[in-house]
Amino acid sequence: MELFAESLTEYKRLKTLEVKVGDLLIGNYHPIRIQTMTTTDTMNTAATVEQSIRCIEAGAELVRITAPSKKEAENLLNIKNELHKRGYKTPLVADIHFTPNAAEIAARIVEKVRVNPGNYVDKKKFELIEYSDADYQEEIERIRNRFTPLIKICKEYGTAMRIGTNHGSLSDRIMSRYGDTAIGMVESAMEFLRIAESENYYNIVLSMKSSNPQVMVQAYRLLIENMQSELGHCYPLHLGVTEAGDGEDGRIKSAIGIGTLLEDGIGDTIRVSLTEDSEFELPVCENIVKRYDPAKVNQQKSNVPPIKNLSKLNITGMNTRKTFSVQNIGGKNLPVVVADFYKKENIRREDLRDIGYKYNPVTDKWNISDMAADFIYAGENKIDFALPGTLKLIYNHDLWKLSPDKANSFPVFNAEQYLDDSLQKSSLINFVMLDCYSKKETDFDEENFFEKIKNDHTVVLCLSTENINAVQSIRRMCLELTDNGIQNPAIIICDNQKPTRAESLIHFAIETGALLIDGFGNGIWLSDHYNDKNHIAEYKFMNSIAFGILQASRTRISKTEFISCPSCGRTLFDLQETTAKVRAVTHHLKGLKIAIMGCIVNGPGEMADADFGYVGSGPGKITLYKGKEVVKRNVPEGIAVEELISLLKENNAWVEPEHALLV
Ligand code: SF4
Repeated sequence: MELFAESLTEYKRLKTLEVKVGDLLIGNYHPIRIQTMTTTDTMNTAATVEQSIRCIEAGAELVRITAPSKKEAENLLNIKNELHKRGYKTPLVADIHFTPNAAEIAARIVEKVRVNPGNYVDKKKFELIEYSDADYQEEIERIRNRFTPLIKICKEYGTAMRIGTNHGSLSDRIMSRYGDTAIGMVESAMEFLRIAESENYYNIVLSMKSSNPQVMVQAYRLLIENMQSELGHCYPLHLGVTEAGDGEDGRIKSAIGIGTLLEDGIGDTIRVSLTEDSEFELPVCENIVKRYDPAKVNQQKSNVPPIKNLSKLNITGMNTRKTFSVQNIGGKNLPVVVADFYKKENIRREDLRDIGYKYNPVTDKWNISDMAADFIYAGENKIDFALPGTLKLIYNHDLWKLSPDKANSFPVFNAEQYLDDSLQKSSLINFVMLDCYSKKETDFDEENFFEKIKNDHTVVLCLSTENINAVQSIRRMCLELTDNGIQNPAIIICDNQKPTRAESLIHFAIETGALLIDGFGNGIWLSDHYNDKNHIAEYKFMNSIAFGILQASRTRISKTEFISCPSCGRTLFDLQETTAKVRAVTHHLKGLKIAIMGCIVNGPGEMADADFGYVGSGPGKITLYKGKEVVKRNVPEGIAVEELISLLKENNAWVEPEHALLV
């Protein structure tokens, strides 16, 4: 093991125990399983069966169904029987919160039961009570007494279990001792795991979900460390980002959280939680998992050298490389976005609209959005109009030499060119490409190169790789730079050869997001060398993806963040429609986190660090929250969006849309 992974320089699956869920095997190098959860009312057998079938046909290898009380747990039998009658034997998972008696019924019916250690026995009151050691131990015994009957049933019926910790629903007891932390999440699961092992029950999968990918990644890594050191083995891990939202943002967030772990061989089953119909989650899962197809990942042996000093890699993601600033890159600056226009000939003012700049010919002014790129790489394509003041130009060296405006245009070199003293350099910024451990043989003098850039405060490194282990390659290079005392900022370049937008999104999100959430990278430069040369829509897509990745990795906030649950049988309103309504009126509120949650039972706990919450509290009723505090209870749904706007106004969190910068 290298810290939390089998290897940090090549793809190797983490060795775990094998878990049997019906006929499906999870962990122990079995393929990464994909799953989803129904959103129908569990008492509506026909609707749940139909949705389960749609999910199974879309690829689900497990289907989870909520069982909020005994009657829903009992109805799982009707659902299972009907599915079997129609030829679908896919294992079912009962989702349990707060109701051990429902779990004990479900465990006799379905193949797996998911319990949340934050609320299986404990009630969440958002109270921070002081627990003495004796009080704490007494509570553990209370959990043991309540949890052991379920373990016994699972053993008797061959039922698997997921101990599924959620960042947003840690018990008051855990919160009082560990706070709202990744360590608290791990300890919450370990308490249940210890009880299960004391009963010789091992058919367990674990999860550590959060709506914040950084917290989620930390928690899984810490859990692996804890399991290894305390138990000497690891249980299979189910990965997911909770309340990821919908559309592009939901997919990016999920891909970053799940992909960061899968890159290091961590994860045996995944779910992408979207506020969309359940079956739409599965193609996203498939696009993520196909990156780790053993036939492909084993094709190319990694040639990334071992990491010299593992202690330099902080598993909590706080690796932020110390960098000096080169103009607006590195140091304390937010990560920059480079828009790659190298394929676009005859670049016109109108083309910049796709990267956040709208030109008004009447006023001769630019309207600049919150998602406006910082640099445009034009390669060999000359731009012959004045760019907006916040957009700087990158040319290949030959063209840059001829540019009259050296204050706003900068050259890009490869490493060999940079070492050539006969080539003219910029006095402000020199972008220097550095290949990270691709297979190509080169006689490039790395030692001399490092020595030279170290003292050159105009150099911004642009890190790229053709190595199949791209994340490992660039991470290894960032650590190498630190080891050599090199503080030049580094931009991560990610090229893409995926044939579809859906796959491109996953590819970009994982290969850059995995580095950003670990604190590497002072900017991102997404390039797309595959698609049609003049496919203009791609520029807008790539710009949006770039800002989405920075937002999801919480390294640069440029828009409202929506934390919305995927909905389930507990949902009290049309979550997709409501999310769209709330988004329509609040999408311009940059930096604000708004949660839209389907039920009052789990919603307030699960909405994590949202600034405001819009939570279903009964049929046609919404309760509005400021942080964790209820501020308007049971507002009729018809006026709830207006009430949310009033609440935002009362808290100075509202900006009229016409005053927001929208392009
Ligand atoms: S918060 Fe949403 S997904 Fe979670 S239990 Fe409530 S309705 Fe279901």
